[in-house]
Amino acid sequence: MTETVNIILAGPRGKMGKEALELISRTDHFNLVGCIDRKNNGYLVKDIDGLPNIESPIYTDADEAFERLNADVLIDLTNPEVGFHHTKTAMLHQVRPIVGTSGFSEEQLDTLKRLSEEQRTGIVIAPNFAIGAVLMMRFSQMAAKYFPNVEIIERHHDQKLDAPSGTAVKTAQLIKETREAQQQGHLDEKETIKGARGAEFDGFRIHSVRLPGYIAEQEVVFGQPGQTLKITHNSTDRYSFMSGVQFAVERVMQMDEYVYGLENLME
Ligand code: NAP
Repeated sequence: MTETVNIILAGPRGKMGKEALELISRTDHFNLVGCIDRKNNGYLVKDIDGLPNIESPIYTDADEAFERLNADVLIDLTNPEVGFHHTKTAMLHQVRPIVGTSGFSEEQLDTLKRLSEEQRTGIVIAPNFAIGAVLMMRFSQMAAKYFPNVEIIERHHDQKLDAPSGTAVKTAQLIKETREAQQQGHLDEKETIKGARGAEFDGFRIHSVRLPGYIAEQEVVFGQPGQTLKITHNSTDRYSFMSGVQFAVERVMQMDEYVYGLENLME
C-alpha cells in the first residue's frame, strides 16, 4: 500500500492552488493537513467560496502552520516574496518543499540549496511542472548545439508578476551550457524604441508577451541560413502542471537533496 503523504498547500485560492486542491482531493494517498493563505486565518478550506469541501484549517502565519500541523510536504504556489519565506520555514521544520512559485532570485535559490544541504531535507523547485515543457527545454538544449542562433518568445496571461518566466530563464541557462557564446544580429543594430529586441541573455534575446487568453506558452526559435527550427510548448489548461506536481511530491519523499528542474527527477 502507498504511504499517505501529509501536505500543506500555500496559495489555495490562486489559479494554481485550486488545481492543486483538486489534485490532492482526487489522489488517495495525498492528505491535506492545512493551508497557508494571505487571509482567512482560522477558517476551514470548505468555508471559503469556490474551494472544495475539505475540512482542513487555514493559517496566515506560516510559522504557526508548520508548528501546529504534522506535514511531510509543502506545495507552494504563491509569489516569490512569501514563497521564499514559506519554503525556508518548511525546511527548518523538516517539511519537504515542492515549489511551483516562480521568480526566485539566484541568491534565494542558493540560500535554499544551502539550507537543504544543512538540514538534509529534500526539495524540488520547478519553473515548469508540465512534462511537455520539460521536453521542450531538453529539445531546445539539443538543438542549440547545431543551431547557435536562437531567440526565446514566451507568452503568458497578463496577471503574471515575473518576466521573463522561470521556464524561459531555465531554457536560456540550458542553451548557454550547450552553445558556443556568440554575437547575434547585426553589429550595428540599434533599438529605435527601447526594449524592441527583448532582454539580453548570454548574447541572445528573450521576449515576454503578456496578454489575456494565454496560460503559458513558449517558442524557442533557431535560425541558420536557409532554415529555421521552432520548438513550441503550449499549456492550454493548468491541469497540465499537476501530473508533474504529483510526481514531484511522490519523489521528494525518497530524497534528502536539492533539485532544481523537473527534468532532474526524470530519467
Ligand atoms: P495567483 O492566481 O495569483 O495565485 C497566487 C496566490 O497566492 C493567491 O491566491 C494569493 O492571494 C496567494 N498569496 C499571496 N500572498 C500570500 C501569502 N502571504 N500567503 C499565502 N498565499 C498568498 O497565481 P497562480 O497563477 O496560481 O501562480 C502561482 C505561482 O505559480 C506563480 O509564481 C506562477 O508564476 C507559478 N506557476 C508555476 C507553474 C509551474 O509549473 N511551476 C505554472 C504556473 C504558474 P491573493 O490573491 O489574496 O493575493
